[in-house]
Amino acid sequence: MPKQEKGQNEDSITQNDLSESLEEEVRAFLGDEEKLHLFDDLTKVNPVTTTTVLKCLQARYRVNLFYTNAGCSLVALNPFQPVSCLYSPELMREYHVALRPQDLKPHIFAVAEQTYRNVQSQIDPVNQSIIVSGESGAGKTWTSRCLMKFYASVAAPVISGKGNETVERIEKRVLDSNPVMEAFGNACTLRNNNSSRFGKYIQLQLDRFHHLSSASIQTFLLEKTRVAYQAPNERNFHIFYQITKGATAEERLEWNLPEGAHYRWLPNSERNLDEDCFEVTRDAMFHLGIDHSTQNNIFKVLSGLLHLGNVQFSNPVDESQPCELEDKTKGFVMTAADLLKIPVEELLESLRIRTITAGKQQVFKKPCSRAECDTRRDCLAKVIYAKLFEWLVLVINESIYAAPSVWTSFIGLLDVYGFEAFPENNLEQLCINYANEKLQQHFVAHYLKSQQEEYAAEGLQWSFINYRDNQNCLDLIEGNPLSIFSLLNEECRLNRSSNTDLFQTRIEKALSNNQCLSRNKFSKKPNFIISHYAGKVCYQLAAMVEKNKDPIPLELVHVLQNSKDPLLQKLFPVTERNQNNIKTQNRAAVVTVVSKFKSSLEHLMQILNSTTAHYIRCIKPNAECKAMTFRREEVLSQLQACGIVEAITISAAGFPVRIPFQSFTERYDLLRKSCGSNKNRACDKSNCRTAEKKGETPVVDDEIAPRSVVLEILQNVMGQTAAE
Ligand code: ATP
Ligand code: MG
Repeated sequence: MPKQEKGQNEDSITQNDLSESLEEEVRAFLGDEEKLHLFDDLTKVNPVTTTTVLKCLQARYRVNLFYTNAGCSLVALNPFQPVSCLYSPELMREYHVALRPQDLKPHIFAVAEQTYRNVQSQIDPVNQSIIVSGESGAGKTWTSRCLMKFYASVAAPVISGKGNETVERIEKRVLDSNPVMEAFGNACTLRNNNSSRFGKYIQLQLDRFHHLSSASIQTFLLEKTRVAYQAPNERNFHIFYQITKGATAEERLEWNLPEGAHYRWLPNSERNLDEDCFEVTRDAMFHLGIDHSTQNNIFKVLSGLLHLGNVQFSNPVDESQPCELEDKTKGFVMTAADLLKIPVEELLESLRIRTITAGKQQVFKKPCSRAECDTRRDCLAKVIYAKLFEWLVLVINESIYAAPSVWTSFIGLLDVYGFEAFPENNLEQLCINYANEKLQQHFVAHYLKSQQEEYAAEGLQWSFINYRDNQNCLDLIEGNPLSIFSLLNEECRLNRSSNTDLFQTRIEKALSNNQCLSRNKFSKKPNFIISHYAGKVCYQLAAMVEKNKDPIPLELVHVLQNSKDPLLQKLFPVTERNQNNIKTQNRAAVVTVVSKFKSSLEHLMQILNSTTAHYIRCIKPNAECKAMTFRREEVLSQLQACGIVEAITISAAGFPVRIPFQSFTERYDLLRKSCGSNKNRACDKSNCRTAEKKGETPVVDDEIAPRSVVLEILQNVMGQTAAE
């Protein structure tokens, strides 16, 4: 077999050559279409193309096989209906005790068990991560929950003697973090009734006996705007519906939530969802150490926000005066102030009057416009909710914490939003897609490594071709010194009045040499387009700089710091700095949204890079969330967006054809120059092996013919075809 030289593969056997002249030959190995569902590993489909992969997935979906291996990833199709016994404790056990779990049907439990065994056998690196990705509604959170249940079951610590009955067991507390995080961080959207509006990384920490000892949770980018704005047909965070539907009569009185009252920030409350169950959240909070009185305090503050949402302003008759309150909303501002324990005059002043400091001592007061008042009201709600969420994560973390000396290894589960491309995209999508670029880079590096190791094991020298490296795109977004992020931060730092046309020109000038950048020239709105690995996305520049600054008027911070409410006092402590000098705060360097996001993501990537990674790619077979409906185009675009197609391309750029020894020798032995005359040779692996050159590493795969042999024969076939 001629050895592959660097770059030589480009003009020897490639996917294209195969699809042209050898398609017929190769088709024979695809076998009977009716048996397509039997392919439980997509890399064994011959040839590996998007069409064959799609066909195979569809065939499997039809017969209720929702999981399929794809090399180092597992593809998970969402059944959108309960599938009996698919996640039963018995099945968990079956995978846990199996001699080789990878020989059982592909399943998230196989991935989970393999991951657990990696920790036990101390493979390098011993820490593991399972990266669950996919678009909204694909099943990431469901999958992560099932994985957590798996570990809570197989890695539960053995309690010897009498346990501490006052504290819930660690595995229960870890599982209880789910309903709490989901109540406060999930919402019903057009794409998913239980959509996570934040990214989550949970580290399950194991002691030296490989038992669950503790855990820690890190969250990313909560979509806090949802508190004050819900798109048509979408809802606010579940917790608001839970309190308004599930409060007792006394609580309704205390929180001022009379039955049937209307709240602007609570749309579509007539829709009842499973996620509206208040009891589950309360119980879980209690198990995590949040006592009833603290819970009461939390729900009171949330009720305050609902009342705040009903406060509306109108333009004053005299422009030099502050905006007026609309008559029908006067009661709401009183109740909001009462529930948030802020004097109502102070609350109204903070919402309606801006304080401007000029020079050293001078302070001016200027009434805000009606639009500014609205923005301030919304901002107040967002900042309270975001701080509350942050604090909850902290409390949960304290409840599941153990000192690093207690645990020796971990399994990390990552559930992050998938790639997003809407008709209008802004900073949120830029951050989400940036995170996906980072994960894609991690995946490609990991996948290439595993492919290379496989080729090396077969004695092949190989240099990869035709895969897209996304470094260029990452440079465009986050690079130094010039990138979209650095330019956005510069705009925030200079505090220029936001002229988006000028900003568009600035971006184009500074980054014109990056091929991933372009612009929608037909749009009148200032924009830029980024060519992501998963497709092009057009981002609108309007409001992007403001969103990046995410400013909180100081008057609002002060009013919250002056609250008499114990929870708000915890969330907004008066620090020495902000007590002493308002001006220092004004001039303090702005920590922008993208800077914060970038550094938390970099921290995450460092962790992921130090672990052995496993990928679960969740796929939503149809946009309507219908059971048993498989739409090919939709699945294909998701395979593209989650990088599976890239992986397939990489594998096709390598050797796409893998043929069982038996079929291989039966079919091709005669064609081999070296031993074609020997008709009586056995059709087995050893026979295939004889073709290998002296000195080459023997075949490692037990079922598949060595590529060296395949290559020799294919070259013979092609040579003959050409000669004829
Ligand atoms: P988002 O990005 O919006 O948070 P997601 O990927 O986390 O979406 P999930 O909330 O996990 O999506 O799943 C959406 C819905 O699909 C679930 O509420 C559930 O009804 C259904 N579902 C997901 N996976 C499964 C499964 N394996 N079996 C049955 N139903 C499932
Ligand atoms: Mg989710």
